[in-house]
Formats: sequence, structure tokens, C-alpha cells
Amino acid sequence: MGFIMLGTLKGKTALVTGSTSGIGLGIAQVLAAQGANIVLNGFGPAGEIETLRAKIAAEHGVTVRYDGADMSKPDTIDVMMNKAIAEFGAVDILVNNAGIQHVAPIEEFPVEKWNAIIAINLVAAFHTIRLALPGMKQRKWGRIINIASAHALVASPYKSAYVAAKHGIAGLTKTVALETAAAGITVNAICPGYVLTPLVEKQIPDTARARGITEEQVVKDVLLAAQPTRKFVTIEQVAALAVYLASDAAASVTGTLMPIDGGWTAQ
Ligand code: NAD
Repeated sequence: MGFIMLGTLKGKTALVTGSTSGIGLGIAQVLAAQGANIVLNGFGPAGEIETLRAKIAAEHGVTVRYDGADMSKPDTIDVMMNKAIAEFGAVDILVNNAGIQHVAPIEEFPVEKWNAIIAINLVAAFHTIRLALPGMKQRKWGRIINIASAHALVASPYKSAYVAAKHGIAGLTKTVALETAAAGITVNAICPGYVLTPLVEKQIPDTARARGITEEQVVKDVLLAAQPTRKFVTIEQVAALAVYLASDAAASVTGTLMPIDGGWTAQ
């Protein structure tokens, strides 16, 4: 019996949506550290993104490209995917991570926010997946990692669009896993609890308003109260799980919704 090592991702190409910040940036960095070429995506000041791109490339000796495609726009997703496939031959590892949040009671939920959350957090993954699969099938190897959420498994009040989109991603993950199971491709969702990124920092004031409590109470009594560990999950922990799912050791792991949530969804 030989041991399976996680091995290298040298020669593979990973496209991580929403990788200019937070969890996506952490995943892009750690996949580059494993040897994968990277396509970064997301918003931010052009100079900062270029510095980041050059730094990841230099640190890990891999090719790093940036594509500023807006994940709410199917046409620009199409252009991004086709450019990546033309340059690298295929997107071997697709990480659907770009996401936004808005917190409000449903009667007050702005219609344009609902539409944007469904487009970016759910519909974009349909487009990236359908466009990445032919190349993965050709190479008989592929990894699709959807960054879902504990909110793909359970709900919280005032997050109707986000919870609907994340539950949708859970269904998409399982369905595509079944369609690709015999093709050397795995499809999984990582379901983090709260990670202290700009996405969470921004929702603290809105949650305070919606619940009529202070921002400190939101952190202690809403966010960390959900997690028995009473600690935020870290970007590094989520990124390490993504590396495992991208490895050959995880070839039999498909169609799963993996909580990494300090015990939140065990309750
Ligand atoms: P973040 O705000 O730090 O990063 C979001 C990234 O998505 C950024 O790079 C941003 O530029 C990009 N983005 C936003 N809109 C975009 C668009 N229209 N097109 C392209 N890129 C766009 O947030 P994060 O916390 O790192 O979130 C990343 C993912 O993790 C999201 O899907 C989020 O739902 C999920 N998640 C986060 C937490 C958490 O507690 N932070 C928990 C569970 C799941």
C-alpha cells in the first residue's frame, strides 16, 4: 500500500473568481504555492491588483493573469473563460468564489440587490462551469470548487437572497457532480462559517440596524454566537481545504457540501 501525498499542481491552471480579496485571494495564493498557474478575477484598484499579480507570479514561479470580468454579466464571463482556455488549454481547477451580500428584511430587500446577489453568487457559477467542462473532459481531469457557505445548509434571517443563492449552489454542485462523476472531474462545495473578510465587515452595520443592536453585539451575539468554537474561521483554513479538494487524494470526493464552520451546522 502506498501513501497518497497531496502532490503538486504544477502544469494545472486555476481560475478563481473574486480573487482580489478575502477567501478567493487566499485560495489563489495557496494554489499558486502548489505550482498552479492562476487567473485572478475581481474588482479593485488597477495598481494594487497588478502588484498582487506580479507578487504571486514571482513568489511561486507560476504564470498569473488577471481578468476583470464582471461576474454579474454572462457575456463578460464568456470572454474571460474563452481567453483563459485559449491561453492555458483548459481551466483545470475552477473556483467559483466571487460573492456579495446584502442584509435586510425581505419586504425592504432592494430588488436590484436581490438580482445582483443571485447573478453573482449563483448564476455566474452556471456559466463558468458550463464553459470550463469541455476542456476538463478533454483532459479527463478537473476540479470544480464552489465556495458556498454555512448558508447553503441553514438559513439566517434578513439574508434571503444570499441564502437562496447559496442553497442553489448546493443543488448545482450535487447535480454537476453526478453529470461528471465518470469523467475524472470532481465538483464540491466548501461551506464556511464566518470568516473576517471585507464581505463580513461590511454587513456588521446593516445587521446592527436590522436587529436593533450595536455592532459589538452583532459580532458577539450574532456572528460568533453561531459558531460553537466562538472563533472566526480563517482564510488559511478554507484555502487548505481547497488545496485538498484540488489534489489527486480527493479524486473520490465529489458532490459534497463540506462545512468548515466551527460547529455551526452541527447544532
Ligand atoms: P470579499 O468581499 O473579501 O471578496 C469578494 C471578492 O469577489 C472580491 O475579490 C470582489 O472584488 C469580488 N467580486 C464581487 N463582485 C464581483 C463581480 N460582480 N464580479 C467579479 N468579482 C466580484 O468576500 P469573501 O468573504 O472573501 O467572500 C468570498 C466568497 O466566500 C463569497 O462567495 C462568500 O459568499 C463566501 N463566504 C464568505 C464567508 C465569510 O464569512 N466571509 C462565509 C461563507 C462564505
